[in-house]
Amino acid sequence: MPSSELVMDNKNASSTAGKIIRCRAAISRIPGKPLVMEEIEVDPPKAGEVRIKILCTSLCHSDVTFWRSTQPPMAVFPRILGHEAVGVVESVGGGVEEVREGDLVLPVFQGDCGECRDCKSPKSNICSKFVNKDNQSMPRDGTNRFRDLKGEVIHNVLNVSSFTQYTVVDVTHVVKITPDIPLDIACLLSCGVSTGLGAAWKVAEVEEGSTVAIFGLGAVGLSVAEGARIRGATRIIGVDLNPEKFETGKKFGITDFINPATCGDKTVSQVIKEMTDGGADYCFECIGLASVMNDAFNSSREGWGKTVILGVEMHGSPISLNSIEILKGRSVCGTFFGGLKPKSDIATLAQKYLDKELNLDEFITHEVSFHDINKAFDLLLEGKSLRCVIWIDKQN
Ligand code: NAD
Ligand code: ZN
Repeated sequence: MPSSELVMDNKNASSTAGKIIRCRAAISRIPGKPLVMEEIEVDPPKAGEVRIKILCTSLCHSDVTFWRSTQPPMAVFPRILGHEAVGVVESVGGGVEEVREGDLVLPVFQGDCGECRDCKSPKSNICSKFVNKDNQSMPRDGTNRFRDLKGEVIHNVLNVSSFTQYTVVDVTHVVKITPDIPLDIACLLSCGVSTGLGAAWKVAEVEEGSTVAIFGLGAVGLSVAEGARIRGATRIIGVDLNPEKFETGKKFGITDFINPATCGDKTVSQVIKEMTDGGADYCFECIGLASVMNDAFNSSREGWGKTVILGVEMHGSPISLNSIEILKGRSVCGTFFGGLKPKSDIATLAQKYLDKELNLDEFITHEVSFHDINKAFDLLLEGKSLRCVIWIDKQN
């Protein structure tokens, strides 16, 4: 469904500008327990901020990691999770000229101010203008915009918090997007899919004829596969404990599948080295486990093998690599948001989708209404979904 009609509908939203909005949100109060639908109050945007009416949002594994966390700094409760979304600008705070009421926008966890040393450099996408020190509040002034009806602060996540009808996001984290793109596809571009594509194209720079090994075939891993397939990689090996992911993975270019549980006496890296005559040119960790980051590194080829870490380590564990293996010419790097600069690169991905150069439809495996948001968690944890789109307006 093209989104232009919805954007038009929301042009009358100005009656709420400058006022506190009461709306419904799915709140994470206890680690690992179902989100609770509650009425909350959302403050108007302050200077440099944008209040957004969320149209749809989806569940990325990073939300699951925060939701399950029991130790600081990741464990913060009560909190509104969600960082993959699309919405319409309801109102803007002082000094915001880049977007206005009625614009279709993506809130994006990665900032892009366009002015700092990092944003000006082609080498970085780690905006250094407003550093969100605690990942639970607004990046500009460290305060919050959400309260429950008892007046208790509800914390933010990843500069976005999209499991709510309305959120407030710093303008450095807001990207205008063409209304020609279907809403659910736009939503995907706000985190996981952009991250995987960027990792293949911009961070690893996978080239024609290369061999690729991807650990974890969720939406992030499979968007790496899609990026590698488009670049002409000849062999794209998928590693996952869930055998159903091989069939799914074929749609995105996975040519070979390894289930670590059925490798017998061999390690996954031994199997990959045998399959690729010495190791894959590019390895990607898309799970978030230190042990698998090691496996990915050990599966890379001596001489030039490159390992890209995308997974957010779910227990906060450090990695330890054998330095002799690094001396053999292998390299390791990590990336947030696939090295992409949200304000310029998302538009390019959207255009590629509209030009039918990108297979994104298959990432949306399920959809639920807002009041069924906990089903989206079940589907991801059961290994059934890639992305489950949560339609906020269908909640009643
Ligand atoms: P997902 O849950 O959809 O996919 C993870 C996959 O890994 C599943 O298919 C699962 O079966 C598989 N898996 C789990 N444990 C495994 C193991 N020990 N061995 C092999 N396979 C295993 O998750 P997703 O939404 O695709 O996210 C993947 C990772 O990327 C998460 O860590 C997430 O936090 C991270 N992420 C990072 C960024 C970034 O900017 N770097 C952006 C988005 C997501
Ligand atoms: Zn994400």
